[in-house]
Amino acid sequence: MSGGGWCLECGHHVESFEGLSACPACGTKALPCPDEWQVTIALNWHELRILVMWAENWQREKQLGRTVYAIARRLAAQHSELAKSSPLTMAGEIGQLAAQYDVQVTDSALRRDVAEQTGEELGLFRLPGPDEA
Ligand SMILES: [Zn+2]
Repeated sequence: MSGGGWCLECGHHVESFEGLSACPACGTKALPCPDEWQVTIALNWHELRILVMWAENWQREKQLGRTVYAIARRLAAQHSELAKSSPLTMAGEIGQLAAQYDVQVTDSALRRDVAEQTGEELGLFRLPGPDEA
């Protein structure tokens, strides 16, 4: 990679990777996204949802960090109206359901993911009472 690109985790762009061993903005050592690999691909939003949700599930199951969510946020920002009506992540989908119904999410990691994906804090959720804990 001779040119620049951006950080997979935080999206920070650099003009050159020369001399860098980590992202200057967030410090991740994850491989960056080189500008020359930027592509435009035609696909259906439903196909993209499936890919993202499967990757999200794998990320959560194997506790692999937040990379899929970082990617999902950048993808969703490209089609914000679609993303609002049909979130790319299961956490976003659960957050949407929680906003419509009296949904209780007791898993703290999932609550964090929902808050991150929806931009809503946990006020959406009724925390378990003392007799439900
Ligand atoms: Zn970064």
